[in-house]
This record gives sequence, structure tokens and C-alpha cells, in this order.
Amino acid sequence: MADPVYRRILLKLSGEALLGEADYGIDPEVLRRLAAEVHALIDRGVEVALVIGGGNIFRGAGLAASGMDRVSADHMGMLATVMNGLAMQDALEHEGVFTRVMSAVKINQVCEDYIRRRAVRHLEKGRVVILAAGTGNPFFTTDSAASPRSVEIGADVMLKATKVDGVYSADPVNDDSAFRYERLTYDRVLDERLSVMDATAIVMCRDQNMPIIVFDINRPGALASIVEGENVGTRVERG
Ligand code: UDP
Repeated sequence: MADPVYRRILLKLSGEALLGEADYGIDPEVLRRLAAEVHALIDRGVEVALVIGGGNIFRGAGLAASGMDRVSADHMGMLATVMNGLAMQDALEHEGVFTRVMSAVKINQVCEDYIRRRAVRHLEKGRVVILAAGTGNPFFTTDSAASPRSVEIGADVMLKATKVDGVYSADPVNDDSAFRYERLTYDRVLDERLSVMDATAIVMCRDQNMPIIVFDINRPGALASIVEGENVGTRVERG
């Protein structure tokens, strides 16, 4: 096994990544597999922060579309990310991995508040830090939390987990000529509106020079390959 090329990573997991075959909620088998993959990284000395989404439970925009006040809907979305964070914590603890859930909204009896220096200390001690509640503000997404957090905690790279193995020129399901980009610049992602992450997230990564790797979380071993420096998924970086 090659030595890890990254010392500290931030992994953005959407709520959908926890769904498995279900339409709603969390598939315990998927959670176990993800926890085992993260455990393997910790065993190799990689420090891991997770930003976890909530779309498998609630998304503010969806609730607002059905008539709910948007701010309340986003609060529900953020609380959904805390639920996912607790589920991931439980799965990691079953693996014997030490973890802390840190929330951007105060919910002290359930988990810690997000405090940057404390988060970094946890990482240095080999604990997986699960960052929940996104930015803590409505009208944002967990993608837009992942970029500032990756910079704040000094991650070497942000790994954006998706259901496809990178960024494609078109939808590979509907277009046979679609091809996967191995490498893209931030500006090209923005100019061509390629679906990587929210534009706000891309702009912050560009301005702070935080590389992003978009990869298929459902491919077993993909995470390990990335930390060994293999060319997996699509890398977004400066030109
Ligand atoms: N959310 C928010 N502010 C944030 C992050 C998330 O209001 O900083 C809410 C928003 O309603 C969002 C929901 O939490 O729809 C779940 O987050 P997201 O949609 O990013 O989850 P994912 O798509 O990653 O599963």
C-alpha cells in the first residue's frame, strides 16, 4: 500500500449517500460500509473531517416549495444533518473510531458546538470530526459549508462524494457521447455551470486554492485510492 498523499481531508457526504436503495432515511448497511472506509483512513494516519448533508431527510427548498416558511424549512434541513451526523458517529463508534459531532447551531445536549480550534485539536488526536448543521444559516447548503470548513481546518483537499465517478460533459445516463473530465479548473466549472457543487462553494475553493476531488462514494475502495494519490474521479483545481 502506498503512503497517503494527504495528511488531512474533508469529506463532503450528502444525505443521499446514506440512502442506499431507500427513498428516505438511512440504510444501516451503507452507513457501516462508509464507516469502515473512514476507519481504514484513520488507521493509515489520515485526519478526517466529514461535512454531512441532510437531503435524505429534509431539504429546505423542498419543504418551502410545499408552502413552508423557508427559514423554518432550512432549520429543519439543518437539524436533519445533525441526525445524520449522529448516525454516522454511532457507526464509526461501532468500528472503534473516536469521533466528535460538532454543530454550527447550538444543540449542546446532543453534540459539541463547532469551534475551529477545538475541531483541529480533535483531528490532531485522530478523532473523526463530523461537522453538522452546515453553515448554521438558512439559505445555504452543506456544500457551501464544506468549502469554508475545509479551509478553516487546514485540509489538504476536499473530497466531494457523489453517485457518479466524476464530472461529465453531459448526463452519462442520457448521452452516449458524455465523457468524464479527469481535471477541471474552477473557472471552467463556473463558466460552463458544470454540476460539481454550488457556485458559492466553488468560488470559495478557487479563492482559497482548495482542490476538490469529485468521486463515486459507492465504488468500494475509492476513498483509499484517492488518499494514495491515484487518479480517481475529477480533480478541480487552479489552471
Ligand atoms: N441547510 C441550511 N444551511 C446550511 C446547510 C444546510 O439551511 O448552511 C439546510 C437546507 O435546508 C438544506 C438542508 O439543510 O436543504 C440539507 O442540506 P443539503 O441540502 O446541503 O444536504 P445534502 O444535499 O448534502 O444531502
